[in-house]
Amino acid sequence: MAKLYFRHGAMNSGKSTGLLQAAFNYEERGQRVLLAKPGVDTKGENSIVSRLGVSREVDFVIPPGSDVRELFARQALGDDPDALLEHVDMAPVACLLVDEAQFLDPEQVDGLFRIAVLDGVPVLAYGLRTDFRTRAFPGAARLMEISHSLEELKTICRCGRKAMFNTRRVGSEITFDGDQVAIEGADVWYESLCGNCYLEASGGRLGS
Ligand SMILES: [Zn+2]
Repeated sequence: MAKLYFRHGAMNSGKSTGLLQAAFNYEERGQRVLLAKPGVDTKGENSIVSRLGVSREVDFVIPPGSDVRELFARQALGDDPDALLEHVDMAPVACLLVDEAQFLDPEQVDGLFRIAVLDGVPVLAYGLRTDFRTRAFPGAARLMEISHSLEELKTICRCGRKAMFNTRRVGSEITFDGDQVAIEGADVWYESLCGNCYLEASGGRLGS
């Protein structure tokens, strides 16, 4: 039976790199994969960007509120029936890979579950567990609830311990202000820290 997998980790734990590697592994065996990401993630436009320098365009973007299973089916089978007839050799999809899955709506995560269980296609969802206030993203919470398999991708804190939390920085200052979603850019950046360093940097605050 196909399963929904949630591979979560703090910032810089290699989630996008792992996703692109997984896609490569499938394709090396001659299998077809589809790559997707939520529309809310503006980083890299329609591409999945690894910090190692590899990037790849997604097959489809998942706008907020959209039916992810329908989007998937359209991509898997082709946009219209006539096109499908011309592509009778179109291979079945061996795996759906979703980057930044924490940005999905909970209902869209349910859609991923249905793709795995009802359509028989394994879904590998990569994403953050918690935001910069240590609160679960709604999509990540749903993934923790219904994924068949949870796997943590680990990265280390600046002190060498395992990083758990994501801190938002504006310049060198840690901040607990702003929207849950603020994509890294000129002003905002993130550092993943262990519990000790997080409390030290936050002055003892655990979130807001
Ligand atoms: Zn630390």
